[in-house]
Amino acid sequence: MADGTIDDLLSEGRTFAPTKAFTQGALAAGMDLYDAADEDVEGFWARQAAELLDWHDEWRSILEWDEPDASWFAGGTLNASENCLDRHVEAGHGEQVAFYWEGEPGDARTITYAQLLDDVARAANALKELGVEKGDRVAVYMGMVPELPITMLACARIGAAHSVVFGGFTHDSLRDRINDAEAKVLVTADGAWRRGSVIDLKSISDDALADTPSIERCLVVRRTGNSVEMRDGRDVWWDDVVPTQSSTCPPEPMDAEQLLYILYTSGTTGKPKGIMHTTGGYMTQVAFTHKYVFDLHPDTDVFWCTADCGWVTGHSYIVYGPLANRATSVMYEGTPDYPDKDRFWAIVEKYGVTLLYTAPTVIRMFMKWGTEYPAKHDLTSLRLLGTVGEPINPEAWVWYWQEIGGGRCPVVDTWWQTETGAIMISPLPGVTTLKPGSATFPLPGIGAEIVNDDGAPVGVPGGGYLVLTTPWPSMLRGIWGDPQRYRDTYWSRFEHQYFAGDGAKRDDDGYLWLLGRVDDVMLVAGHNISTAEVEHALVDHTAVAEAAVVGKTDELTGQAIAAFVILRGGNEPSDGLAAELRDHVAEIIGPIAKPKTVLFTEELPKTRSGKIMRRLLRNVSEDEQLGDTTTLADPSVVEGIKERYLSAASGDDEE
Ligand code: ATP
Ligand code: MG
Repeated sequence: MADGTIDDLLSEGRTFAPTKAFTQGALAAGMDLYDAADEDVEGFWARQAAELLDWHDEWRSILEWDEPDASWFAGGTLNASENCLDRHVEAGHGEQVAFYWEGEPGDARTITYAQLLDDVARAANALKELGVEKGDRVAVYMGMVPELPITMLACARIGAAHSVVFGGFTHDSLRDRINDAEAKVLVTADGAWRRGSVIDLKSISDDALADTPSIERCLVVRRTGNSVEMRDGRDVWWDDVVPTQSSTCPPEPMDAEQLLYILYTSGTTGKPKGIMHTTGGYMTQVAFTHKYVFDLHPDTDVFWCTADCGWVTGHSYIVYGPLANRATSVMYEGTPDYPDKDRFWAIVEKYGVTLLYTAPTVIRMFMKWGTEYPAKHDLTSLRLLGTVGEPINPEAWVWYWQEIGGGRCPVVDTWWQTETGAIMISPLPGVTTLKPGSATFPLPGIGAEIVNDDGAPVGVPGGGYLVLTTPWPSMLRGIWGDPQRYRDTYWSRFEHQYFAGDGAKRDDDGYLWLLGRVDDVMLVAGHNISTAEVEHALVDHTAVAEAAVVGKTDELTGQAIAAFVILRGGNEPSDGLAAELRDHVAEIIGPIAKPKTVLFTEELPKTRSGKIMRRLLRNVSEDEQLGDTTTLADPSVVEGIKERYLSAASGDDEE
């Protein structure tokens, strides 16, 4: 019933215990980390901070908590870029590869730690010359080229905060983010490669800069060689001002609580928020999670996080976590289907990738394309797989495990947000028995709970709102320029608990399952039904590659479920198949969750980070005016779906 909880409908029986082959070499194979954190959580994080990072001054307190303001390691000083670079070079690892960078056209660069330190120091000196000072903000807008992490680390080195804007955004989005952060300098590129053509980043930047009073200078990386306009007195080429700088630039000791960066959320639910992350706690938790969740062995592993540096996943698991841990990483510039749909697998084979971290949306795309693409390549170097960004459908999990991991690699489903800065809920691969589709348990040192409308724990099993119960080191320190929105969004829904905005449940064994955003929960005949469970049931059918469901106003049941389905290659839409899918859901999770309508589609509306935007589908199904679509990857998708939905809906009352 509608008692402020979410119904628990889907049950998953498959389990995958860590294999002996994996646990033998695993960094964590027992409960020690959990036990230590249970015993003394602050002491636990302090130990991680001391072990994983180098500090200039020691902190005077581990945590000062004045809800909702946290201060971790107050009084301590460190520098993030020094922790990512200098100390590894000084310890004799200068020749170790930091990045195997692969350009979309097939060009490649191998960058060692010594080279990266050199590049970062020069870039930092150039930024200083352009007037950037400690405390300033630098906006960054480019594709996935090495100069992107170099710029981020250069900012960190001199104590300026970066604000990276995903290179796929329009000039309006770039302008708004620059203005919100009041950035002084923009670092961009002439262009970016995307599926063989050039996206003209500089001219998009020029449009944005027409209306950004805070910007004084614009530094331009040459990547694609297209002709661009350079404005006198404002614009300078990277090649003209960076390589000539001195390669010595002493890292600025930063207070643990000094702003490291601002990053805007993906905008799945509405207007993006400028999330603030500071230095000491953030670096501690990204290093800790990168080390233990991915079981990183820095001398032998090759880590590849396929995210873009424009998202938090790229910040934490391409730049700060891996480099702090002296990982060797792959960084790829382009899309998974260029020049063909096997590009990812060619890269895994070429570099011998051992740890692969990607998103459910990408995995579902590979499922749709078929197994012949991964089958073309030798993927036996892989030993661990990870996912982040959305709930992963159990069928997609099993597909990933089988077809990519060869049935040998643990799959870590990691739940976290831009706001949390680092992974929060995830298996430890040598410890946790996995269930496909479950992010399993909070990591050591993390407190999570599931509560009902009134903030009371729902118990086990049970479903409701996911909250975080204790401050964590990499937590956001607020929303840039809007402290009230920070309180309202995260700290006012429930007392003394952080409201994540996601629904979750615990099964009989206490495993956590993320159920999607609470805004998307459907109320059908008095039951709160999560989008994730119905979508999982649809994807469970062999004909379905991807599915999204929303609640549509219904006279009889309050809301009825409207499903939007993408079929796997080789299947044709038909009324018969729609009926079969509706029955399949009813059979798997019960008649209450049976979709009233099924619309077959080629595409779903997604954010630029690849997440399904259900609120737009809701608008489609209610035939409302479309809301804010500025973060939509392809606005025409919604219009197309809307047309088909409305023509199908005119004859859909079969029940
Ligand atoms: P906005 O907050 O602007 O709407 P967003 O929430 O999409 O954008 P992110 O911070 O990139 O921006 O995404 C975090 C969200 O992604 C989580 O709150 C959750 O909804 C979803 N998510 C991330 N990882 C997982 C996961 N492993 N399982 C389920 N959901 C996940
Ligand atoms: Mg969010």
